[in-house]
Amino acid sequence: QKDAGRNGFRFFKGEMNAEAMRWLALETRLRRAIGQAELALHFQPQVAGEDGRVLGMEALLRWHSSELGRVSPADFIPLAEDTGLILPIGDWVIRQACLQNKAWQDAGLPRVPVAVNVSAHQFKAGTVPQVVRNALAESGLEARYLEIELTESVMMGDTTAAEAQLAELRAMGVSLSLDDFGTGYSSLGYLSRFSLDKLKIDQAFVRNITSDPRSAAIAQATIALAEGLSLRVVAEGVETLAQRDYLGRIGCTTLQGYLYSQPLPAREMEMLLQAGR
Ligand code: C2E
Ligand code: CA
Ligand code: CA
Ligand code: CA
Repeated sequence: QKDAGRNGFRFFKGEMNAEAMRWLALETRLRRAIGQAELALHFQPQVAGEDGRVLGMEALLRWHSSELGRVSPADFIPLAEDTGLILPIGDWVIRQACLQNKAWQDAGLPRVPVAVNVSAHQFKAGTVPQVVRNALAESGLEARYLEIELTESVMMGDTTAAEAQLAELRAMGVSLSLDDFGTGYSSLGYLSRFSLDKLKIDQAFVRNITSDPRSAAIAQATIALAEGLSLRVVAEGVETLAQRDYLGRIGCTTLQGYLYSQPLPAREMEMLLQAGR
């Protein structure tokens, strides 16, 4: 590379500014999106491996920006977390998931729990139980039809506040599911301190389950661990019949992934529930 010194630095500085500006513009637009109905929930079914029956669904946030088009949650969730926007957005997600699930139940569709992703930042703010309480009261949804998906990061560091909130949620009758299991920095010790209901085998292990003995061993160990702790287990990112069959053989029968369905807009999820009635 020629002239890596001064020009290199100038170029680098320009890049940084462009990146910072892009970030700032995204933040402004995301802030506006909250009030402008640009956010929507999609729903991905969780099904029984044997017969494809819908056992539950995960709510996944979508942002369709009028200016930017579709923005992936992998891009805007970290931004929302850095800016604190995750709090109003997260509140909206919980409330909207409860309202939608109750509307489906009132329409006579099969009753299944809806799982909502809640970020560690929301637990840090300490407001999750109150937000959930309000959402359940406003929607009239029974607590057992709401599930909170949290990641191992919630249970790291100073966890006193998180412990109390998780206990409160469980006391309400909401179930707790540990997302992306095995991908964090966990020591497993927290599994005895926190009471959970469910482990989700991460898609990274599912992806290679039939080709990589290590991934298979981790999936198998997760299932054994869940069994020992009386937790349910779900595999996510199931894309092939071979993965389904393998997971079935090692004892995981609740599955989520493109093999069954992509995350669907509410209207399409409704049709899927209707078909199972
Ligand atoms: P996650 O909670 O681990 O969600 C699973 C992701 O895998 C989703 O991506 C889903 O669309 C995708 N997926 C589902 N089935 C398959 C499959 O068979 N193969 C593959 N390759 N992928 C599959 P999505 O919707 O883009 O969400 C990405 C992440 O954004 C989520 O990961 C979650 O961490 C975060 N997220 C999404 N919605 C929310 C939300 O409402 N609140 C918070 N805090 N985070 C959210
Ligand atoms: Ca999740
Ligand atoms: Ca996950
Ligand atoms: Ca993930």
